[in-house]
Amino acid sequence: MEFCPKCESLMLPTKRDGKTVIVCTKCGYCRDVDEVGDASKYIVKEKIEHKPKDTLVVIDDDVDTLPKTREECPKCGNKEAYWWELQTRSGDEPSTKFYRCTKCSYTWREY
Ligand SMILES: [Zn+2]
Ligand SMILES: [Zn+2]
Repeated sequence: MEFCPKCESLMLPTKRDGKTVIVCTKCGYCRDVDEVGDASKYIVKEKIEHKPKDTLVVIDDDVDTLPKTREECPKCGNKEAYWWELQTRSGDEPSTKFYRCTKCSYTWREY
């Protein structure tokens, strides 16, 4: 539980611009929980986003549902990786493949 530093009312988590913030239920004071490092307390586990993004996406640790492939991890040399595909923002470019090492969780993209 978090309480507002201004009016001591209960603060509740909410999503704002893609970030999780906690907002005072009374005066509207809002604090960025990502910055204080305790966001995990508030974030409900999210599914992998399939929204178009041209940057490397961070997915949660629940990767068991992803398919595996024989791909060598550039970091630890492990021969197996989870993979998924994402469409880039423009839409007419080919989708990008991402890999995540099954051993060390290193994530990289295929060019
Ligand atoms: Zn308040
Ligand atoms: Zn690895």
